[in-house]
Parts: sequence; structure tokens; C-alpha cells
Amino acid sequence: MNHDELYEWSRRAAEWALDYHTNLRDRPVRAQVGYGETAAKLPTSAPADAEPMAQIFADFEAMVPDAMTHWQHPRFFAYFPANASPASMLAEQLTSAIAAQAMLWQTSPAATEIEQVMIGWLRDALGLSSHFSGTIHDSATTATLAAVLTMRDRAMAWDTIQDGLFGGPRLRVYASAQTHSSVDKAVRVAGIGQANLVKVPTLSDHGMDPAQLEAAILADLAAGYKPAGVVMCTGGTSIGACDPIDACLAIAKKYDLYTHVDAAWAGSAMICPEFRELWLGVDGADSIVFNTHKWLGVQFDCAVQFLADPVPQIRSLGLRPEYLQTLGQDEVVNFNEWTIPLGRRFRALKLWFVLRAYGLDGLRQRIRNHVAWANELADQIAQIDGCEITTDPILSLFTFRFRDDEQTERLLGLINDDGRVYLTQTRHDDMFVIRVQVGQFDCTRADVMTVAEVASQISRNL
Ligand SMILES: *Cc1c(COP(=O)(O)O)cnc(C)c1O
Repeated sequence: MNHDELYEWSRRAAEWALDYHTNLRDRPVRAQVGYGETAAKLPTSAPADAEPMAQIFADFEAMVPDAMTHWQHPRFFAYFPANASPASMLAEQLTSAIAAQAMLWQTSPAATEIEQVMIGWLRDALGLSSHFSGTIHDSATTATLAAVLTMRDRAMAWDTIQDGLFGGPRLRVYASAQTHSSVDKAVRVAGIGQANLVKVPTLSDHGMDPAQLEAAILADLAAGYKPAGVVMCTGGTSIGACDPIDACLAIAKKYDLYTHVDAAWAGSAMICPEFRELWLGVDGADSIVFNTHKWLGVQFDCAVQFLADPVPQIRSLGLRPEYLQTLGQDEVVNFNEWTIPLGRRFRALKLWFVLRAYGLDGLRQRIRNHVAWANELADQIAQIDGCEITTDPILSLFTFRFRDDEQTERLLGLINDDGRVYLTQTRHDDMFVIRVQVGQFDCTRADVMTVAEVASQISRNL
């Protein structure tokens, strides 16, 4: 295949995409295939001879779409959204055509500089203080790992960079039980160990209890451990829990701990000033992450990390071997020194396209609609016989159950087999509950209310 053929097939792909998106509502949201079905259709080894693109494309159409869960389906209410707006898709096509490696400024001046400017645009759009700079990672998991590595090395006065953790004190990291499993993964990967991630008890609103945080730090100091940092969450994955950022930061600062705020999902909503009370005090954090690839319409992958001071993270992660020197240009920003992988995609382009193509007001309107519709939907579900709202909407996420654990699980299974909507579950207060989040870029109010219609129809027959 050459570039002339690429042009022709790109047109075919664009036609296919238009048809796919136009008819998405007719498809079941969740894949309705069994494990192993797709693999069984593929040959067991790669072809020795080139195959015609027409055949490859036909096989794609025949095998792939029906065996996918449709994340851009307007009635996708599972997990969190992974929004991909059309403007973002267009930018990704251009990124793919240039296919640059954006590891250094000189390997990609426009990628580096657009990334710097986009960080500034987003910082201001979220109402964060102007002292924040930042960078883009593939995922929130990676950004959180970068922050945990930084808190580890900082707590050890940077000795860990050369010596590792050998013979050092037992480091401790604090987070609430509502924080995402990516924090557990980060302490594992950082060599701190999951046993040293202290899950601080929460208050009745499911946010971290600052008094318990301080008590845990004091107990650890008395035991000879070394507290390193605190990870807080704004909009936890299970039910949307928000830690009291200002009070927790005050405790962290009192003990000179490095701080990271995980707002992977909820961060996008902070473009609307009325939601910022959920992370009051956030300007005092050392590091903040949010995924534009969840709720802002910038497709996966595009996790934005803001840093009050990038120097500690660069000290932990930045390396400059001779072959990566940008000779005579020591003043330039080389973003690979801020992140874990050396190689980087040009992710800032899709941010630039999305922020311009919809404008902040257009994006705000979508998020405000989602929040309002989620509240309306929760009210409707509360009316269904046997259904009970188990956690009220936090932004656009709420949970409900139907009679008991067993019946709730049955209802969820039948709803997803039905295919009109897709919901997932979580455990809350030791109950099996159904999670509903509203956030798909193109969903309408009618799409959202379908959840109540389906739940009502199906539960009636249980
Ligand atoms: C989704 C999510 C993550 C993980 O995000 P990735 O980008 O998939 O790594 C972390 N924390 C929270 C609160 C999330 O909602």
C-alpha cells in the first residue's frame, strides 16, 4: 500500500465512519459476543504474502464492529465516558499522518509548544492559579505514578535516584478508600509497596477525614516510618466521592508531604465555575491530573497533569544522555523529562482542535446538560417500584439498587443484554449497586431517560 492508495482508502474509512456514527443508536451498546469468538475467526499466523486492502477492509467490516462495545454510543452510561468528538478525530488523523515522535522540542517544535500553550489554556479554563505548568501523559495512571515517584524521591532527599530504596526507612503514602486502584498500582511500581498505602477512613460524605489523616501520619511517625505524600481524589470512580482538598492539603503541608489530586473524571467539569466547590483549595496542590479523554471530548489518550513546580518531577524522571542533548538549546522544554516514557505522541493537537471547534461555552453546555439530566434520571429511577437511589448524583454519577444484591445483579445483566443502554456496577457500603454516569458527547435528554424506561420495563417482569 502506498500513499496514493492511502488517500483512496482514507475516503472509504471516512465514509464508513460517517455511516457507523449515523447508525450507532441502532446497535446494542455492549458487545454481544462470547469470549474467543473473534480470535477463532482469525488465521493462526501472519500471511507470508501481501493481501489486497479490499479484502482486509471487508474483513474489518465483517468482524470488528459487531464484536465491539460502542464507547461513542449515545446511550453508553457505563464506567466513565471515553469521549471522542469529531474535531478530536480529525486532529488524530493529522497526527497520524505526520506520525512524529514528540520526545524533544527539536524533534517536534510545534508539538511541544502547542502542548505548553494548551496546558495554559486548560489551567485558566479550570480556574487554576497561574503558577501551574504541566504536561500531557497517556493516562491518569501514568500521571499518578509520576507523582508518586516524585513524592518517593523527594521524601528520600533524592538519594533514591542513585541508591534505590535499599536500607531506607519505610515510606508511607496516604489516600482515602475511595481513591482509584491506579494509586495502589503506583505504590507497587514505585517500590513503596501496597502495604504502605494507608487508606484513610472517610467521613459520611465519603471524602477523606482530615483528622484521621493527621492521626495516621502521627502514628506512622511514632512508629519510625517516613510519610512521603498524600493522594486526594475529586470525583472517585466508584460513586464520585470528593476529598476535602483544602483541609487535607493543610495537614499534608504541616508535615511537608508532597500532594497529588486525582480528578481524572471530574476535572473536566471544572470548566464550569459552579462545580469548583468540589475541589476547593486545589491551588495548593503540588500535582493535579485530569483526563480530557473522559468527559471533554478529546479522545483517548490525553491525560493532563498540572504541576505547581515541575522541577521535582523532572528531577525524578528526567535523564539527558548524550544522544538526547539538544545542543546549544538548554533553555528549551523537552517534555520526555517530565514523563515516564521517552517517546511521546503529538497529543496536544486534538486539544487545540477541540477547544477551538466547540469553544469553552459549547463544552460547558454539554457538561451542564449531563449533570442536569443525571439528576432528572435519578428522580425517575427513584419512582420505579423496588428501585432505590443508593448514592445521589455527584456531578453526573449516581448509583441505585433493586431490592437486594441478587436482584440488582440480575436486573443489570438483563438491562445490558437488552442492549439499548449500557450500565456497570460497583460495591458501595457493602451493597452491589448499579452505576449510572451521563457524559457521552452526543447524548440527548431522550437517550438519558431511556435508562429509566428500560429499567422500569425489565424490573416489572422480575
Ligand atoms: C479513570 C480514572 C483513572 C484512570 O484513568 P486512566 O487514564 O485510564 O489511567 C484514575 N482515577 C480516576 C478517579 C478515574 O476515574
